[in-house]
Amino acid sequence: MIDSLSNITDDPYASDLLTLVQKNGGPFELLNEYEPIIGTEEYYGGEEIYPKGLTSEQLDSYLETLTEEEKAEFMYPYTVIREDGEGGYKAVRYYSEYKDYIDPVIAILYEVARLSDNESFSNFLRLKAEALTTDDYYDADVAWIDMADSKFDIVFGPFEQYSDKIKGVKAKYEAYIEIIDQEASADLKKYTAYLKKMEENLPIPDEYKSVVEGLTSNFTVVRDIIRKGEGRIGYQAVATNLPNDPAVHKSKGTKKTFWKNMFEARFNAIIKPVSNILIDESQLQYLSDDGFFKFVLMHEICHAIGPREVKTGPNKGMSANASIGPNYSPLEEAKADIVGLYSLAYLMDQGVEDRGRAKEFYVSFLGSLFRSIRFGLDEAHGKAAAISLSYLLENGGILYDEETKKWSIDFDNFEEGVKSLAAEMLVLEGDGDNEEVQAFFDKWTVETPMLVEAIALTEDIAIDVLPIRKIIWE
Ligand SMILES: [Zn+2]
Repeated sequence: MIDSLSNITDDPYASDLLTLVQKNGGPFELLNEYEPIIGTEEYYGGEEIYPKGLTSEQLDSYLETLTEEEKAEFMYPYTVIREDGEGGYKAVRYYSEYKDYIDPVIAILYEVARLSDNESFSNFLRLKAEALTTDDYYDADVAWIDMADSKFDIVFGPFEQYSDKIKGVKAKYEAYIEIIDQEASADLKKYTAYLKKMEENLPIPDEYKSVVEGLTSNFTVVRDIIRKGEGRIGYQAVATNLPNDPAVHKSKGTKKTFWKNMFEARFNAIIKPVSNILIDESQLQYLSDDGFFKFVLMHEICHAIGPREVKTGPNKGMSANASIGPNYSPLEEAKADIVGLYSLAYLMDQGVEDRGRAKEFYVSFLGSLFRSIRFGLDEAHGKAAAISLSYLLENGGILYDEETKKWSIDFDNFEEGVKSLAAEMLVLEGDGDNEEVQAFFDKWTVETPMLVEAIALTEDIAIDVLPIRKIIWE
């Protein structure tokens, strides 16, 4: 389909269609519940990985007839399921299914490994090339996390399993070629060095504080120059935490990649226009992409501080996640937002971050809340945004003007409001009592008329960006 559309050069309709098909990786619209872009063919959740029409239940009953070893091969993330020609099915490794596509890539990986002057990067590239033929990524993943001092990075391989709607286990290939942002990465080291002090500084009683174990992921800030495969279709990710292999998590942790250029795109295409409508004019001058980026970095860092275990009551010692249940995720997202801001204020007090930029950080945070709230109050990030907006509106920190319908930061009271909200949520996590959490949500995630109105006013703004790239040789 892509080939035949690419060959039509004189028809604007064909080129629009081509853009849509490329953006969606096929003829179905990913951000619109898989409606067909053209024609009437219905979407199949097994995509090209399972024989068309095979259901999860049918596969389950077939798996019953297999040995444990065969079953494991069927459920392996890197096999496709095919009909075996005898009324049954077989599992085929990715490399034998996709050899024609993969071999040229392997050749390039070896070539780049030869050209690079960074041994850890070259080592990773060679292991990745090997992994593509064995469909065993462990060594390559470990080498990827161990990479040091490289100017370049790539996220490459079958990773995410979202697209498999039959079993949710099959990973799809994605590729990002990236230039590491040395300056932003150095900034990050500056912040993470303060983790322990940030925990000690939390506005909660000592019995709620934890011993900081450090970050479970390595952070890299990059700019990607191209993205392909699963990376190019659907929602454009601004950050990722990979690999997904639990064995690598155990031995090495993960690597968290931030695509700074995509943050800028999201800021310019969504947060800025949304803010222009909803934020008081006098404060629009403080909005900045870098302010937004700093806030997101602090959010990610602050997932690592605060109580991860229950500190009081009958569930003491249990993980807060297990003790609270499904409400934990939105609570933890809101906590990371607010503790991130609280800790950013601390870093400014310590002189690690410039105090003069406080207004920039806070207004950019407000803008990002309006982006999240558009996901709706049922979604974890949407719920987290509603909590911050409603709580700070009532307890100080955020102002709303009934006349102009505009929102603003109350600079005099913002840090106090953030502190008290941070304390409430940290204690909720430490208590691990879902009834308390539910009561807190019932109070602060009400769909108030002004929230409904904010969502309605920004209805016409895009929900995502479409990257267009050009190579300019100098
Ligand atoms: Zn988060």
